[in-house]
Amino acid sequence: MRFSRAYIPTVKEAPNEATLPSHIYLTRAGFIAHIASGLYNYLPLGKRVIRKIETIINEEMARAGAEEVELAFVTPAELWQESGRIEKFGKELLRFRDRKENLFVLGPTHEEMMVSIVRNRVNSYKQLPLNLYQIKTKFRDEARPRFGLMRAREFIMKDGYSFHATVEDMNREFDAMEAAYKRILDRLGLKYRIVEADSGAIGGTGSKELMVLAESGEDTLAVCDHCEYGANIEAAVRSSKAAPSEAPVAEFNRFKTPDIKSIADLSAFFHVDPYFTLKCVAKRAVYEEGSCIVLFFLHGDDALQKVKAQNAAKALDIVDVSEEELSDAGLFPGFIGPLDLQGFTCIFDQTLKGASSMICGANEVDMHFVGVDLSVLSEAIFADLVEVKEGDGCPRCNGTLSYTKGIEVGHIFKLGTTYSKVLKAEFLNEKGQAEPFVMGTYGMGVSRLVAAVIEQHHDEKGCQWTRATAPYTLNILVSNVKDEAQNELGELLYGQFLKAGTEVIFDDRKERFGFKMNDAELIGFPFTLIIGKGLEQGVVELYVRQSGEKVEIPIAEAFVRVMERL
Ligand code: ATP
Ligand code: MG
Repeated sequence: MRFSRAYIPTVKEAPNEATLPSHIYLTRAGFIAHIASGLYNYLPLGKRVIRKIETIINEEMARAGAEEVELAFVTPAELWQESGRIEKFGKELLRFRDRKENLFVLGPTHEEMMVSIVRNRVNSYKQLPLNLYQIKTKFRDEARPRFGLMRAREFIMKDGYSFHATVEDMNREFDAMEAAYKRILDRLGLKYRIVEADSGAIGGTGSKELMVLAESGEDTLAVCDHCEYGANIEAAVRSSKAAPSEAPVAEFNRFKTPDIKSIADLSAFFHVDPYFTLKCVAKRAVYEEGSCIVLFFLHGDDALQKVKAQNAAKALDIVDVSEEELSDAGLFPGFIGPLDLQGFTCIFDQTLKGASSMICGANEVDMHFVGVDLSVLSEAIFADLVEVKEGDGCPRCNGTLSYTKGIEVGHIFKLGTTYSKVLKAEFLNEKGQAEPFVMGTYGMGVSRLVAAVIEQHHDEKGCQWTRATAPYTLNILVSNVKDEAQNELGELLYGQFLKAGTEVIFDDRKERFGFKMNDAELIGFPFTLIIGKGLEQGVVELYVRQSGEKVEIPIAEAFVRVMERL
C-alpha cells in the first residue's frame, strides 16, 4: 500500500472523553471513528487488524475441529421468550418490531439461535459431537458504553457452541477450546491469564475467563504467587482461614454498646478480634417482580463480594440501601443482628456455619448480643459471600493471593443442559431414549482484543502492535520525496518487499520527515525503514518500534537484513 493513497486520517487531538491509551491512540491513529455512544466505524487500518485476529481465530478453530457458520443478526424474540432470557437480559437487549409488528432482538449472544439450528435436525448421538462458531457483530445496549472498543454497544465477537451426548465429552471439548484459546492469545503476542469466573446471566457451571493483563483492565483478578490459580474477584476463593486463637468467653447476654456501630469500634469495645463480630451488610436485591432488602452476614473482618451476594440472593442486581430506607423498614443500622428478626431474608457466609462466641447487633439502638451461637438459627441460608483480599491463602497450594488487573477477552462455559432443556433440544441416545444436548459455549471479544493489544503494547508516542496484529509489519519511509535518489531506492525496496509477500506500506507522502515519523510512531508499525540523509553515506536506517532501537544498514544489504528481522 502507498501511504499517499491510503485512508489513514491521523489527528493530534484525543477524543474528549477518552482516558484509555487504546481509545486515544486507535482514534488518533485513524483505526476507528466514533459515530455515537458505543458505536464505531472501523477504518482501513482497524479493519486490517480485525482481519488478522479473525484469521488466527479461524485457523485455530479449524485445527480444533470447529466449523464456521453465520447466524442471522436479527433474532426472533420468541426464541428469547422460550429460553426466558428476554427478561434476564433486560435493557441490554435491543428490541424492535418489523412492519408486521413481529418482535425481534439484535443478537447480543447466540445460544438460543444456535440451539434452534440443531434442534430437530440433529437427532442421534451418532451425529455428535458438534462445534459450531461464528465471528459476528453483536449488539448490547450497555448501560455505560465506554473506553472505545473495550465496551462498545456494537462489537465483534467470536462465539462458539458445542453439542455433546455426555458431560464427559463436553468436558473434553471445553479443555480443547481452552487450549485453542491459549494458542490464539500466544500467537497474538499477548500476556494473559486464564482465571475461574462467575457464570453470570449465561448460566451453567464451570466457566473460565481469558484475561489480558493490563493495568487499565476493568476486572480485578486474584492470582497465586506460587501456582497457576487465578480467579476473577467475583469468583475467587481462599484457603480456609484458621480462627484467631482466643475466642472470647461469654455467656449469651444483651449488652449496652452506646453509639458503637462499626466493626472496628465493636471489636475495640469488647477487646475481641473482629473475626468474632458479626458484620451485617444490608442491600436491596432487585428481581423481575420488584425489590426487597436482603441482609448478608459475615465475619467482621470479611468484606461482601457483590456478585457472590447477587448469586446467593438469586437477584438480577444488588444495590445499596440508605440508612433511612433501613430505618423505615424497622431496622437499626449499626445494630442489626440475625436473632429475633422477622420478615427479612438473611444470608450467612458459609464460614459462619456453626460459629459460636459471636457478638452481633440486637436489633435495638445501642444494644448488642454477646456469646451468640449461630447454630440456633435452624433455617439459615449459607453461601460463599466473601471477597478475597490480598494476602489471603491460595485455595490450591501454600501460596499467597494478590490482585492484578485484567481485560476479559474471552469467556468459556460448561453450559450443560441449561439451554437445551428449556428449548427442548433433544437427541436419541444409544438406548433410543430422548435426552437434552449437553452444551459448551466459547466466546471471544474480537474488537475488544484490538483494544487489549494496545492496552498491553503502547508508549507515550502511540501504538506498538505485536507482529501478528500489526496492520502493516513494515513501513518504508522516504524522508524527502523531492530527493530523486531517496525516492528511487524507496520504490525499489517497496517493490522487493511486496514481491516477497511482506505486509508493507510505503510512506511516499509529500510531508516533512518529522510529520511522517510521528505518524509511524503513533500508528505503531513494528518496523520502519528510513531512507534519508544516510543515503549519501550508503546507508538506510531500520527503526524498531517496540524497543526504540535504530540500526544503520548498508543499502546493498537492506532487503536481506530487514527480511531477517521480519
Ligand atoms: P463483560 O463482563 O466485560 O461485560 P461479558 O461477561 O458480558 O463481558 P460475554 O457475554 O462472556 O461477556 O461475551 C464474550 C466476550 O465478548 C467477552 O469476553 C468480551 O471479550 C466480549 N464483550 C462482551 N461485551 C462487550 C462489549 N460491550 N464490547 C466489546 N466486547 C465485549
Ligand atoms: Mg457484559
